[in-house]
Amino acid sequence: MLAIAASPMGVQLHCLDPSDPAPAAVASKHTLGSYQNRDDVIAFAKDCDVVTVEIEHIDTKALKELEDMGIDVQPTSRTLSIIQDKYAQKEHFAKAGVPLGDFKSVADEAELQAVADDFGFPLMIKSRRMAYDGKGNAVAKTSGDLSDAVAKLGGYDKGLYCEKWVPFVRELAVMVVRSKSGEVRAYPVTETVHANNICDVTTTPANIPASVAKEATIAAKAAVASLEGAGMFGVEMFHLEDGRILLNEIAPRPHNSGHYTIEACACCQYQNTLRAIMGWPLGDTDMRVGGAVMKNILGDGEGDAAMRRMHDVMGAALKVPGANMHWYGKEASKAGRKMGHLTVTGKHPTEATARLEQVLTIASGEPD
Ligand code: ATP
Ligand code: MG
Ligand code: MG
Repeated sequence: MLAIAASPMGVQLHCLDPSDPAPAAVASKHTLGSYQNRDDVIAFAKDCDVVTVEIEHIDTKALKELEDMGIDVQPTSRTLSIIQDKYAQKEHFAKAGVPLGDFKSVADEAELQAVADDFGFPLMIKSRRMAYDGKGNAVAKTSGDLSDAVAKLGGYDKGLYCEKWVPFVRELAVMVVRSKSGEVRAYPVTETVHANNICDVTTTPANIPASVAKEATIAAKAAVASLEGAGMFGVEMFHLEDGRILLNEIAPRPHNSGHYTIEACACCQYQNTLRAIMGWPLGDTDMRVGGAVMKNILGDGEGDAAMRRMHDVMGAALKVPGANMHWYGKEASKAGRKMGHLTVTGKHPTEATARLEQVLTIASGEPD
């Protein structure tokens, strides 16, 4: 999607990706290699004008070397190394005064028990690193679950920390773009609904009072302003019953909860990423439609039948006004793998939601 936005802007995208052929087949140039391998990263990036990432689990020491060689890395290696360690991220935002839930690192059983006594249950235990789609999270409902939860995450040596359970009423996300000169612009507030820890549906604008939207936007901008470097940031937040907004985490890149911007905003998250990292003026983040919903299309298994079910959804989207298909062209389906998404726009979020339901009804073969 970044490559699709790059083409009309005259930006030649050169992509380092471990799969062959790369999903970003539209990229003007593709290098097969690992973003976690120092030599691959250096060889790939040494002739680039600007280097950015679409995943935070990257070799940030290699990015630091590039910076020392005079290569422009955006956001900076320092920002990426803070964000890729979720505990360091929390510490950073706590110091910056961004509202957060309670969190504490745990290095052994005694420390975990002490945190459990303090935070209570359910207790969220998280891996510091390599987390995505909830894969680094384990919930202990009682003290009897603690050792299984730790084992599920690979043990204390992996680097774990705890978060006090946040009894949120909804999850919100705000995409924030930051320019090289430090200007920050926020997109509208989105409501995100997760299924099995994976983002399922986003609705924009979120159905919340204007005062809550304002508070979420202020918190998201403040969090991004506390980081170095240019680019796009997906800010995930919790909205509590008492009205408070707490930061969950930040992704230093275009994000699922910003996919709706492709159809729904004047300048989408991908074009604004490019504008930001190139040092060009930022684009307009306002919506140009009244409402938008995004639905992730995940594989529900392997093989042709799973592929066909997803193709049916894409085909149904072509029949409904305002529905847009995005098929990623990944070779094989796997359970839980993001294979594409739909964005459905309407005069307001309710119309967009009704249109999405129409797509899913058609795809399921039921009479619509
Ligand atoms: P992503 O794919 O967004 O990077 P991740 O693997 O980094 O996800 P988190 O964002 O930390 O995981 O958590 C995934 C989901 O788990 C959240 O969106 C939220 O629904 C739930 N969650 C996370 N932390 C807490 C908490 N402290 N209390 C309650 N629920 C939580
Ligand atoms: Mg994450
Ligand atoms: Mg998350």
